[in-house]
Parts: sequence; C-alpha cells; structure tokens
Amino acid sequence: MLPLADSVSEIVSIPAVSIVDKPRFGWRGLLLDSGRHFYSVDYIKKYIDYLSKHKLNVFHWHLVEDHGWRIEIKKYPRLTEVGAWRPSTNFIRGKYYINSNPHGGYYTQDDIRDVVAYAQERYVTIVPEIEMPGHVLSALIAYPELSCTGGPFEFPLEWGIQKDVYCAGNEQVFTFLEDVLSEVIELFPSEIIHIGGDEVPKDRWKACPKCQKRIKDEGLKDEHELQSYFITRMEKFLNSKGRRIIGWDEILEGGLAPNATVMSWRGVKGGIEAARMGHPVVMTPNTHLYLDYFQGEPYLEPPAYKGHTPLRKVYGYEPVPEELNDDEKKYIIGVQGNVWGEVIHSRTQADYMAYPRGAALAEIAWTPKEHKD
Ligand SMILES: [Zn+2]
Repeated sequence: MLPLADSVSEIVSIPAVSIVDKPRFGWRGLLLDSGRHFYSVDYIKKYIDYLSKHKLNVFHWHLVEDHGWRIEIKKYPRLTEVGAWRPSTNFIRGKYYINSNPHGGYYTQDDIRDVVAYAQERYVTIVPEIEMPGHVLSALIAYPELSCTGGPFEFPLEWGIQKDVYCAGNEQVFTFLEDVLSEVIELFPSEIIHIGGDEVPKDRWKACPKCQKRIKDEGLKDEHELQSYFITRMEKFLNSKGRRIIGWDEILEGGLAPNATVMSWRGVKGGIEAARMGHPVVMTPNTHLYLDYFQGEPYLEPPAYKGHTPLRKVYGYEPVPEELNDDEKKYIIGVQGNVWGEVIHSRTQADYMAYPRGAALAEIAWTPKEHKD
C-alpha cells in the first residue's frame, strides 16, 4: 500500500517494487509458413512485434516448401528466379477448389539481415527452416539434377506430400546443401537451424540406383536409415560450423542424429521417445498447437485446415508429458504453435488464426503449471 500524504505539500515516497518473473520454458515459439504463402517484410516485422509483446522468443521461419523457395542464395540464383514463383494455386473456399492467380516472392539477403536485426532488438531469435530431403520441389524445379529421376518438374496444383525429394545417393546434393547452409548461417545468428526432415516418401529412393548404392556402401538397412544418414551428415556439417540442428519428429525414424533436437508434431509420441533418449524436445503437437486448424464451428469460420483447435484447447495443453520421469522431463525445452499456409492466403487471415490462440500459447510457455488458472 502507498503511504498517505498528510498534506498536499508532502513528498510521498513510493516504495520500490521488485517483480520476479521468469519463463517456464526457454523456447517459446511461433511458426509462420512463408513457403506456401509469401508475406512481405513489413508483415514479418509485425509478426515479430506480436511475438515480442507476448514474450514469445523464437520465430520459426519456414522458408522452403514444395510450393516456393523464399530465401535468396547467391550461389544458386535459380532457387529464387524459378523456385519462388508458381503459376497458380488451388485452394479451398467452402467446398470448392478455386484456382487463383500466380503467386510468389522471396526475401533478399538484405531483407533477411534487416529482419534478423529487427528481431534481435526485440529479443526474438529467428530459427530458419531449410527443408530437406523432402518438401523441396521448388528446388528441384530450379535444379532437377538434384533429384533421383532428373525431372523435369512442375509446381503441383494441389497441396500435399510430393514424392520427388533430394537424391540421397548423389554427392552433388550434399555439396549443394552445404553451400546453401553456409549462406544461411552467415545470415542467421541462431545457434539452432531447422532442417525439416518431415514427410519424405521413400518411393524415389527405392527405385534409384544411386540411392540403392549408397544404402549398400554405407551398410544401411533400408530407406529409413538412408534418411538418417542424410540428416546425420547435414548435422555433422552444421556442428562443424558451431551450429546444432532441430528437425520434425520423422528424424527419429531410422536412427536419430546424435546431437539433434526434436520437434514433436505428430502428437507427443516423438517428443516422449526423444526425451527418453536424452535429446532436447520442443512440443508442437498438431492436436493442440496447429493454429491453421479451425478455432470455432467450421460452418461459421473462414477456410481452415481440417482439425479443431479452439482457444480453450490450446490453453489447456500441458507440454510436459506425465509419462516421463523427472530426469526425462528436463529435456522438454519448449513449446511452439504453427501457422501453416495451405489455407491461409493473406496477412489478415494469418493474424486471425494466430491470435488470440497465440496469447494462450504464450501463457502455457511462460506460466508455471501450478499458476495456470
Ligand atoms: Zn536417388
């Protein structure tokens, strides 16, 4: 309570207040999918402002997708000359597929330096995601020699998983990716770099003589181990540059790279498995933290992805699974929401999907479990 003044002329001394507050998790993240939909630098900065206001401290920037390559790489100009521009997009409006106009765009390296500095001033770390070995049709359209079949390829009209991925038996692919990552780490100071690793169909690898030769030469059991070989090799490269990798939970299949952090998205199973193996985990289960899912009654809402994630469900999510013992629980380093882009095609829609659920996410990321109300 403030001391009351005896008279108006008395100087009132206000006791100092010390506020002790600290976050529950070190990683409090939100993803934006610039791969499927290109957002301007202005909007990216606004998105970072929102993160900062909510004490979210990681901006996971999804920059590579089948449908668009969004980061300028000086050594491979076709990635953005060709890979950043698709002729059209099929998207769902009500029950109809609508074919929209051409769509594209990319961030120059100057844009990225500008955005990274902006984020740093707001204590937000940008974790760039450079997808591999799948979700890279945009790169294969630009450089078909990086695929198993040699192409040619076109942008798909529909969303969904593409069968064409980087060839894991071709040395040129690893040279390419090391070159790309070398430019990426020059731009992004984040110690941790996201290498994707999700949704990689093995069809092409099964039929590719180079990939099959790699499996034989390296003594691998199958194509899942080939994916593990791929990711582990990229991890070694990034570790040698003082960086670490994070990947989606598919990187557990075929053996987890030794120093990898796992992002658990297909529910919490992958996160539990990784924590039990002593690997750091960021929880971002699609059941609770996919913010492209419907947040209200679908018939009242603008287009959204098929799941249902109302505000209450986000707020009610507990990131540390009960199945883990106290030692294992320490490996849950954070929590993240994801604003994917299949059905989100404007900044206003991205805002609408991200908040207020992003505020609920901020609460579960910051506030200790026992203080949640
Ligand atoms: Zn191959």
